[in-house]
Amino acid sequence: MAEYDYDLFVIGAGSGGVRAARVSAAYGAKVAIAEEHKVGGTCVIRGCVPKKLLVYGAHFAEDLKDARKFGWKLDGEPDFDWATLRDNVLSEVERINGAYTDTLNSHDVEIFHERATVSGPNEITLASGDTKTAKYILIATGAWPHVPEFPGSEHVVTSNEVFHLEELPRRVVIAGAGYIANEFAGIFNKLGSRVTLVNRSDVILRQYDHSIRDRLLQIATTKGIEFCFHAEFESIEKQDDGSLLVKVTNHEPREADLVLVATGRVPNTDGLGLDSAGVELDEDGAIKVDEYSKTNIDSIYAVGDVTNRVQLTPVAIREGHAFADTVFNGKPTTVDYDCIPSAVFSHPPLAGVGMTESEARNTLGSIKVYQSDFRAMKNVLAERNERALYKMITDADTDRIVGLHMIGPDAPEILQAAAVAVKAGLSKSDFDNVVALHPTMAEELVLLR
Ligand code: FAD
Repeated sequence: MAEYDYDLFVIGAGSGGVRAARVSAAYGAKVAIAEEHKVGGTCVIRGCVPKKLLVYGAHFAEDLKDARKFGWKLDGEPDFDWATLRDNVLSEVERINGAYTDTLNSHDVEIFHERATVSGPNEITLASGDTKTAKYILIATGAWPHVPEFPGSEHVVTSNEVFHLEELPRRVVIAGAGYIANEFAGIFNKLGSRVTLVNRSDVILRQYDHSIRDRLLQIATTKGIEFCFHAEFESIEKQDDGSLLVKVTNHEPREADLVLVATGRVPNTDGLGLDSAGVELDEDGAIKVDEYSKTNIDSIYAVGDVTNRVQLTPVAIREGHAFADTVFNGKPTTVDYDCIPSAVFSHPPLAGVGMTESEARNTLGSIKVYQSDFRAMKNVLAERNERALYKMITDADTDRIVGLHMIGPDAPEILQAAAVAVKAGLSKSDFDNVVALHPTMAEELVLLR
């Protein structure tokens, strides 16, 4: 008789949990996974994937307008149908959910479609009441949207609900200034809603380079997104006609049909039973782990957003893979968190890797900054007065590139490739040595002066 029911029990079938389960099973472990919502997790079901598809959908508003300048005759004003976009996006999500489930099945990972909690260092209790034992438990429960409490806060929606709206709202108030808030501001604005973004401070996208975020603010304002800074929610009242009266500090009240709160995501550890096994949390409720994702309990590991290291899908996937390599392949593996590229799929999108100008100045002291501020060829013909900005930051003593930041069409696509060079420690002169690929926007990277 085996000592435990499983070698590994994973709680949460999102980006990190699915990767860890699949790879551990491929190494020969007997694996089970519990998922209380849908296999795929936040990224697939209510995050990156449906979000990016909405961004594509919204961008057609500009493309259709610009098409006329390129000779296309489109009779009358283009008509947009929210239900078609929503339903097509949701069926694509279902397809990927099925593909993830197939992958787990084909690796003989047993799936429990229910909530699971920890009831001891090697014991899991399922919502149905059954208990299971495992040599190792991996917590991969992700994070959950944080909603501040104020009178009427029950009327808001979060990113969990926003993909399922019955109708496209005419007026949207969005709380927050991080990437989710700015991405949805762009989506709703392009789809024709009146958008107001409400934020406690006057800084958006705090982690990004100041020149790039200032450029987004300027372009977004020109596109008609209204920014209410130094504003906190006082109340939301539902009016007789079903609309919402939103009161915030320092600004006039406004009416809205939808209030979307995107003020951060907290690690999903509430009610998980971690205390029953003695697992330590930090002051934000995140699970404390070492560089191998091990908690203070030898049999319990945690990966992904629940550990609050870097809340991004590719990071959760790497952590899940490194866990499997470490525990089931005898190859202790850590994740390198240096130089992680990231993007905001706003309109236009922005992306960055490495240090911002102010971080580099504070860390290195002596830096050089190279910039290209230009209008993409396509925007010139379309008479779209929207400028791209590319910024390279180097260590003045060594010429090594320490940061690369950009805003403009396709910036995330271009930055992913350039991030390889930054991560590899290349210098500005290495970029200068490459012949430009003309005519592209990316050629600006090798022509910076
Ligand atoms: P998750 O993917 O959140 O998976 C956790 C799973 O655990 C969930 O399915 C949940 O239902 C389940 N679960 C929780 N508790 C239990 C329990 N007790 N029992 C059973 N199951 C449980 N990242 C990017 O890299 N790029 C993007 O463009 C991007 N866009 C995003 C847009 C939005 C709107 C949001 C919300 C997030 C976005 N992210 C993006 C972040 C990304 O989705 C997360 O970083 C990633 O999903 C984290 O993976 P995870 O495995 O840690 O957790």
